Parts: sequence; C-alpha cells; structure tokens
Amino acid sequence: MLGLMQEWPLLCHKLLDYAAEQHGAREVISRSTEGPITRTNYRDIHTRSKHLAKWLEGNGYKLGDRIATLAWNTGRHMEAWYGIMGIGAIYHTLNPRLFPDQIAWIMNHADDQAILVDLTFVPIVEAIAEKVPGLRHIIVLTDEEHMPESKLDLICYETLIAESDADFKWADFPEETAAGMCYTSGTTGDPKGVLYSHRSNVIHAMMAALPDALNLSSNEVLMPVVPMFHANSWGLGMAAPLTGTTMVMPGGGMDGASIFELLDTEKVTFTAAVPTVWLGLLDYLEETGKKLPHLTRVVVGGAACPRAITAKFERDYDVEVVHAWGMTEMSPLGSLGSIKPEYGGLDVEKTLDVKEKQGFAPFGVEMKITDDENKELPWDGKTFGRLKVRGPAVAKAYYGGAGAEQFDGDNWFDTGDVAHIDQYGYMQITDRAKDVIKSGGEWISTIDLENLAVGHPDVQEAAVIGVAHPKWDERPLLICIPRKGATPTKEGILGFMEGKVAKWWMPDDVAFVEEIPHTATGKIQKIELRKQFADYKLPTA
Ligand code: ADP
Repeated sequence: MLGLMQEWPLLCHKLLDYAAEQHGAREVISRSTEGPITRTNYRDIHTRSKHLAKWLEGNGYKLGDRIATLAWNTGRHMEAWYGIMGIGAIYHTLNPRLFPDQIAWIMNHADDQAILVDLTFVPIVEAIAEKVPGLRHIIVLTDEEHMPESKLDLICYETLIAESDADFKWADFPEETAAGMCYTSGTTGDPKGVLYSHRSNVIHAMMAALPDALNLSSNEVLMPVVPMFHANSWGLGMAAPLTGTTMVMPGGGMDGASIFELLDTEKVTFTAAVPTVWLGLLDYLEETGKKLPHLTRVVVGGAACPRAITAKFERDYDVEVVHAWGMTEMSPLGSLGSIKPEYGGLDVEKTLDVKEKQGFAPFGVEMKITDDENKELPWDGKTFGRLKVRGPAVAKAYYGGAGAEQFDGDNWFDTGDVAHIDQYGYMQITDRAKDVIKSGGEWISTIDLENLAVGHPDVQEAAVIGVAHPKWDERPLLICIPRKGATPTKEGILGFMEGKVAKWWMPDDVAFVEEIPHTATGKIQKIELRKQFADYKLPTA
C-alpha cells in the first residue's frame, strides 16, 4: 500500500523560493570581481535568477542543456546556478585553476552550450573558445561599465538582467532530473563528471544543515570560502537558502588579509575551507595580532586537517573546528567530526586526537571498510581498509560511463580512500589507496606522518611518499617546506616525531624543498612528487 501524502518533488529552485519567502531580507554579501563589496538578499537573488531563467529559455535553452560557470563565489554566481536549474538546465562548474586545455576538454566532454564567466576569467575563455565549438553564448558576470574589450562576442550579464523580467514560472520536471555537474580534478587519468540531481542536491542540503553536521540556521552568518567550483561548494550553495543563512561570499580574495577583512566586518560566525586557506589566515593573525571575536565555528576539509590548525583555532582564537571529509562524488559531504557524547568531556589533547579523525557519517551516508577481497573489516579504530559508501547523494556512475570499476554491483562506491572506523563510528582517513606506503607487506599511512611533521614549529608544509627500498620495497621519505626564516634539520624533525608513531613508520629520510606541487583543488600532488624523487636514494637503502 502506498502512503497518501502529496507529491512534492524535491527541486532545487524550491530552496530559493523558500529563502525568498521566509528569509527574503537575509543578505548575500560579495567581494565583487570589480572590487567593491556588494550586497543583495535572497529576495533579489530569487527575482534576478528568474530574469536569467527567462532569458535562457527565450534563447532556446531547455531541459537537460549544460551551461557552464567559471566564477568565484558571489551573489551573481548564486543567481546563475538557480536561473540555470530553474529551466531544468544543468549548472556545470568549471575550476579556473585547471589548465585551459583541460577546461576545454571538460567543456566538450560535458557539451556545454553557454558559459557565465567572471571578469577575471575572460582571458581563459578567450584562449579556449575556438576549441569549444558547441558554445553558443558567453555571458560576462559584470555591468556595462566593466565590460572588457574582446575578440569574442560577449554578453553583459547586468544588461541581460535589466532587459529581461521575472515573469517566469520555474519549469516542472521529476526530482531525479539532473541539476548540476562537477568534474573531479583527475589526478589520475581524465577528469570524471559527476552529475547531481535535484533530489540528491536537496537531500544533501538537508543532511548538511543538520546540527551535528554544519548546524546552519537563519541566525548564522556563513562565509563559504570553499569555491562553488569545487565539489559542489560542499553543498553550501543549497544548504544556505534551505536555512535562510546569511552568506558572505569572498570572491577571489583567498589570502589571509582578505579573508580576515570579511570575517571581521561582516561578523561571520561560521566558515568553511581547505587547510591551506586556514594556514594563510592563521599566519596573518599571528603577524598582525588580530583576533576573531565573531567567528564561532570553522569546517576544515578537502584534505586532512593538521592537528596544529585545530589547536591554534581552538586554543588561541576560541573557534571550534569541525573536521569534515567528502568528495565530489558524494555531493560532497561524507562525514563530520562533531563531538558525540561518547567523546564529550575529554581533556584538550584527547579532544585533539578525536578531531584528527574525519568524523562520523550523517544520515544519508552509509559506510563500510573492506579488504581487497571486499570482505568487511571491523570498526575497531585500527584496522584499515578501502572505504566504501552509499546513499541518496552518492554518485552511481560517472557522466559518460568512465570509472565503472569504482561502482560495485550492489551500489557501493569505492572512494579510493583508505580508512579505519572506530567503535563510535568515527572514521579516519589514513591515505589515498594509491598513496599508501607498502613497507615489507605492511601499510604505512602517509597522512598520519604528514600531520605529525607539520606539528613541528619550523615546518610550513609536509608530504610523505614511498621511495624504493631494496629490502622493504618502499620506505617513507618526508618532504618539508621550512617555515619562513627557519632552518630545521633532519635530526630535529625526526627527533620531534620519534615516540609519536610506531618505530617502523618513521621516515627513513627528510628532504627540504621550497615548493610542494598542488592540484587545482589544493591537494598535494603525490604523483608529481614521486616523479621528482624517482631516483632518490635513501640512506638506509
Ligand atoms: P578532487 O579530487 O577533484 O580534488 P575531491 O574534493 O572530490 O576532488 O577530493 C576528494 C578526496 O579528497 C577524498 O577522496 C579524500 O582523499 C580527500 N579528502 C577530502 N577531505 C579530506 C579530509 N578531511 N582528510 C583527508 N582527505 C580528505
């Protein structure tokens, strides 16, 4: 027997309808690409996204079309997402940090027909437009006054909005309809497209907003530093309208000083970004002696959050750190490190131990760890294996069918991460499956070693890779960038690490470098490092 409740498809534009109706005056504040800080609110974003939707429909765009955005986090980018989704088309976020040729490849693979682009990124579009033959319109997210000279036929966004109107009814379609698209950065092989549905985005927004997750509400002032072009903006572009949360959009200003300025002047209470952004902010605070009186919580994810970052935020600035893990394929949230009663009341150091874990799954994410034969492993906080997940906001395939081997027949997705899970459900990533070091048949976690090394006061950033060893197959090499003005030694750093990890996990050597290569989403590029150190001879070899 079926229930007798109404059919009310979970469509993303309903989130914005709700925000406009119940929280219409709540502001969305942006550092604009033109320079000044601009202010709008959910009511105006709602109206203007209808203007855009009407224009798109009038220009022949329809259900299922892919429309790209190449833009920073701003109110206009929000309008673009909702205007696109509101006609049943698909927002496709492009990462400007990729090489132009990669962007062109992705656009062609997705078959993007139009692009909304920030002023800053017009040169990228100029460089690739010829290589993307399907592109029909290039809309620059600015006003007439700032329109750039170009060999391309560019449309001014503000003029388009002014000449259109809000007399538009959102399109109707089933909730399973595709809403958005985001490619993973493809550290191995070609990038792979993840195709979100309206249903998965709305469900994910509800999961993300929960108290033990992001705990959003209309009383919070949220700054999503994580870009809308990275992993679906961690769901914030949907979860904020769902809860009527004020948004402070940092635009392209990702450095410590710019981030601080907005945190301070806009009295941001809650923010989210990858660890490197927080390193920049914490350095800036230390140099200037400034404080964070308004900020209460920060979510750190995308890469393991070093203990030192958590300790500084919590001890020096009284800001609670929530460690989170996720991936593009999961919309992206997979786990968050809020404190359950089982871990309540611990002393500072023990709490920091818990916060090194990536946390527990919210409702809507099922997890398991398995060995290479797909046999489930125990949740004992020690045994590590392949982390697999499933849920309503987890991908069941990549767009175009690539990477099919990552999807089990029974709907589990192999994350490619290696993790253990403890008795209370707290998961800890120990590595990417392809980065883990296999020493004499046993696994060594590179992330644990990196976290430990960056706890040394003279280490700015650290990466650990496996280097060939005649007896053990592979042994760990620690690669460090010294902190500005410091000259750490190998003995000093190894001495600092000794006793804090199993003896056989200790790096066999330390190499100092000026730079560690990163991917377009801020992760250490281990493939590159392994190439650089391919001929490295360990002193123990
Ligand atoms: P990309 O590969 O494009 O950078 P993702 O952001 O989807 O895309 O990357 C997801 C991966 O990032 C995860 O599978 C995991 O390896 C890593 N990751 C994300 N958050 C964390 C975290 N808190 N700790 C350790 N690794 C993380």
